[in-house]
Amino acid sequence: MTNSTPKSAKTRILIIYTGGTVGMVMDAATGALKPIGFKEIRDNIPEIVKLGFEVEVHAFNPPMDSSNMHPDIWVELAGIIGKKYAAYDGFVILHGSDTMAFTASALSFLLENLSKPVVLTGSQLPIGEIRTDAKENIITALEIAAARKGGKALVPEVCIYFDYQLFRGNRSKKYNAEKFEAFYSMNYPPLAEAGISIKYQRQFILKHPEKPLKVHRKLDPAVAVLKVFPGITQATVDAVLETRGIKAVILETFGSGNTTTASWFTDSLRKGIKRGLVIVDITQCDGGAVELGRYETSVQLKEMGVVSGYDMTFEAALAKLMFLLAQKLSRSRLRELLETSLRGELTNA
Ligand code: ASP
Repeated sequence: MTNSTPKSAKTRILIIYTGGTVGMVMDAATGALKPIGFKEIRDNIPEIVKLGFEVEVHAFNPPMDSSNMHPDIWVELAGIIGKKYAAYDGFVILHGSDTMAFTASALSFLLENLSKPVVLTGSQLPIGEIRTDAKENIITALEIAAARKGGKALVPEVCIYFDYQLFRGNRSKKYNAEKFEAFYSMNYPPLAEAGISIKYQRQFILKHPEKPLKVHRKLDPAVAVLKVFPGITQATVDAVLETRGIKAVILETFGSGNTTTASWFTDSLRKGIKRGLVIVDITQCDGGAVELGRYETSVQLKEMGVVSGYDMTFEAALAKLMFLLAQKLSRSRLRELLETSLRGELTNA
């Protein structure tokens, strides 16, 4: 569906409405929140017209709760942006907060050489509620998507705007299910903060690319996750590592990348790597980075060829693996790119 507000303005923004709490209402029968159409949002934000730019809407039909998000839809979203790229100055994706950081991470990899803003936002309370946070989030996200200096977009990145802060998408995490401040980015500073004015931190924002946009259209979801914990059994570890069809495992470790040194554990990992699995080590901590070899408890991981995920979020590591696996790279190139920052998703220096 495509709707639009005034045709007179110069700046053109496309809103892609996928669903999420922002457009939900309470189901009278079950008492549960469920997504409805974009009309509810439009009717509740007459202010959009006052922004003075041309806003068009591409609405998912039916809209979805983002817990049903899927890699195929990430590819679809990237395709929509690719198709409409020349016609708009920026894009705002209205999305449920639950998996917003996953979608933002995936889009950051699928949209290579992005020179226009792709701003994801949503809300903790539906737009129709008196105390809703949706209005501010949507209006400021639109302003950020439209912001330009010297003819160029101020934020040529996939990012998340929520509760007065703009974060790099692949550095963000939903950390709170209750607060209006639902997201943070522990390992990278905010790209902008909104108060009376929107203050952009240009030194932290990606530079404009020299090449044209390249939209990637493939993701390979052959990834499993092994989160270690004290008391984890060999049966659990092997069940994950021997999952049929997987090509890569995200190993969620303690602190700066540590695991038990029990020989059954390291033997299982070694066997997995011999079978061809790529194992990426990321930390269970929200802040800080993996540093393989810092402690005795990660030396063996380094020796057997576990890849360091440095300070990547789980969301970014997952999306990056799906993106790189789809490219059928050699094992050494895959390992090299995993440890390299492709879209500002990690710091490895
Ligand atoms: N369950 C909702 C969703 O992710 C939560 C939200 O939008 O905040 O779609």
